[in-house]
Amino acid sequence: MRAIVVEAGKAVVRDEPRPEPGDGEVLIKVRLAGICSTDLEILRGYGGFTGILGHEFVGTVAGGSARLDGKRVVGEINCVCGRCDMCTSGLANHCRRRTVVGISGRPGVFAEYVALPERNCMEVPESVSDEAAVFTEPLAAAYQVVHQVKIEPRMNVAVLGTGRLGLLVAQVLAQTGCRLIAIGRNPKTLGLLDRKGIRTAGLDDLPKKQDHDVVVECTGSPEGLGTALGLVRPRGTVVMKTTCQAAAQVDLTPLVVNEVTVLGSRCGPFGEALSALARKQIDVAGLVTRQLPLAEGVSALELAARPDQIKVLLKVGE
Ligand SMILES: [Zn+2]
Ligand SMILES: [Zn+2]
Repeated sequence: MRAIVVEAGKAVVRDEPRPEPGDGEVLIKVRLAGICSTDLEILRGYGGFTGILGHEFVGTVAGGSARLDGKRVVGEINCVCGRCDMCTSGLANHCRRRTVVGISGRPGVFAEYVALPERNCMEVPESVSDEAAVFTEPLAAAYQVVHQVKIEPRMNVAVLGTGRLGLLVAQVLAQTGCRLIAIGRNPKTLGLLDRKGIRTAGLDDLPKKQDHDVVVECTGSPEGLGTALGLVRPRGTVVMKTTCQAAAQVDLTPLVVNEVTVLGSRCGPFGEALSALARKQIDVAGLVTRQLPLAEGVSALELAARPDQIKVLLKVGE
């Protein structure tokens, strides 16, 4: 089968053996896959991953499960042991022995087929198109923010960074009715949020006062935490979404002096994301800037790194 493989910091499209599903796993024929910033960071060396790239997908189950055979599914990316101290205390996403699709120890979805534990798969409602369903994973990660911090309508909340993930986080936060501002450097994505009635500001005219109760950092850049610490109020919270290869050089004095809480935030609830997509509560169609076939995967990855692109999708199969 055709796949995009990362090796020695480079992506190549080549033939790979079709995966053999293990115990409890299903074989999935990938329909559509999404390129996210994590994929681009992996190409820069993040996590030292080699193998088939990609973790955002929608596909059709092609064997291994009577319940799901022929069904359209999306899949949780953390594959867990179910027995370690994290798994048995309800923190399976932090499983000590986990593998993560296309990120750590497990082949990804930029391929014609992928094998995944059946329990990771969730059926996609009829009303959700492939182009929307492919956003389930990043949208779930956006919903994770409101599970970690209680956002109330009177709160001042800033989303820092209006890239692929920031655009989703801003839309999720807008639903809470909080006093929201999205701050970014890309006029195109700021305009997109403006049109949805979300207040925006350019990175060059940052609010001067440290008066935000919560700042959600989605910049994808090692400087993001420093900027967030300049926006958050004393005793406020910074939620960190950025994972990047480059190490951060941040002055942590404001964190200590202002007694700021910093929260890491990763994967979130798939069910909630899928039902938001089914109810058309989050606009994802507007974020897709290009769709390219899997065979043009290397160009697609280059394209996704350009600032004039938001979401680039890979068309894999039917
Ligand atoms: Zn992703
Ligand atoms: Zn475990």
